[in-house]
Amino acid sequence: MSSIFKKIIEGEIPADKVFENERILAIKDINPAAPVHLLIIPKKEIATLQDMSEEDRGLLPEIVEVAQKLAAEYGVADGYRLLVNNGSSAGQTIFHLHFHLIGGRALGAMA
Ligand code: AMP
Repeated sequence: MSSIFKKIIEGEIPADKVFENERILAIKDINPAAPVHLLIIPKKEIATLQDMSEEDRGLLPEIVEVAQKLAAEYGVADGYRLLVNNGSSAGQTIFHLHFHLIGGRALGAMA
């Protein structure tokens, strides 16, 4: 079954898009944890970070580039987190790989 992110990528469900090219989509998180909370989503259906193949890992430099660009655009380049929840015990709820870009407030220590 397709995840909600696949449906957003395919245009079946609306989302607040902030970046898109052939490989990557970035959207605003619907339930933001901070003033800036974006999701950078590879369009390829990859369930988790742990499932990334060697070929999939080729996407990582571009994901970092998009994160840098969006962090600058959203005024958080001097302080943000880029993170992945891998697996349900880490808090992953949508099993289509995505990177959270979170900033715009003091984020405190990691759990
Ligand atoms: P995770 O818990 O790491 O799998 O992250 C899933 C994220 O997707 C959460 O931060 C949700 O708030 C967010 N989310 C769920 N549905 C949507 C949606 N339709 N549009 C944008 N963000 C969403």
